[in-house]
Amino acid sequence: MEPPESHPRYTSLMTRDKLVKGWEEGLVATQGLIAHGRGEAFDYLLGERTTEEGSLAERVSAAMLLSAEHPVISVNGNVGALVPEEIKLLSDALECPVEINIFHRTKERVSALADRMRDVGCRKVFGERPDRNIPGLDHARAMCTNEGIFTADVVLVPLEDGDRCQALKDMGKRVITIDLNPLSRTARSADITIVDNLIRAVPAVTAFVRSMEKEPLLWEGIMENYDNVKNLENVLSRMAPTHLRDKHGPKRKL
Ligand code: ATP
Ligand code: MG
Repeated sequence: MEPPESHPRYTSLMTRDKLVKGWEEGLVATQGLIAHGRGEAFDYLLGERTTEEGSLAERVSAAMLLSAEHPVISVNGNVGALVPEEIKLLSDALECPVEINIFHRTKERVSALADRMRDVGCRKVFGERPDRNIPGLDHARAMCTNEGIFTADVVLVPLEDGDRCQALKDMGKRVITIDLNPLSRTARSADITIVDNLIRAVPAVTAFVRSMEKEPLLWEGIMENYDNVKNLENVLSRMAPTHLRDKHGPKRKL
């Protein structure tokens, strides 16, 4: 049953439905449903809206993506189910490829996701024929393509696993992630962490890209003035009282 638009949590309920449909279509791993639940809890604490910190990280991400030589957008099951059209618009704005890159890898799921991205109009979709490995990861999780993630200088990896985020950093790449959990290893290891829901963050980054694409002189300054740890601390202070932050906060050793 579809919830009425007047329901106070309409968007959240519709997002769940999209994810379940994606699971039924073989795009989303069962574990992806659980990961979404964790994200929802953090989003609830933020009031299910984009914070100042989220918006700042989105703007800096746009500057970093615009200044990249070879940016790539990584797409996993939840991303393919929730925001395929929005990812297509971002890849158009950046004229960059997308690469299917999933944690629970099966050939069928990679193909289904690649088809979904082509169906919404993405022209360059990599990932079906991996020919490279990201150093330091076990085989299935290491797979990527030479044309895509392996040679990218900036990678946008929404909902990435912490290990893989670190492995991409160790290759010398700049990594942007979208992750509602400001304490996750992913959030801590990325160069820019957008603590915002995917469904709001992707269109927001695209809007910043469009508004700054003709102003390259702005990009460097925007990136230089940004401090990701400080931004994570600020967003965390919206979610958790000080005594909890001191215990589990950004300075926590992982
Ligand atoms: P780590 O990065 O330390 O391995 P984690 O908390 O990120 O741990 P994952 O299994 O990678 O664990 O969980 C997926 C992450 O994706 C969670 O942090 C969750 O908050 C986030 N997430 C889930 N759904 C969304 C969404 N729609 N938008 C943004 N972030 C989301
Ligand atoms: Mg993570």
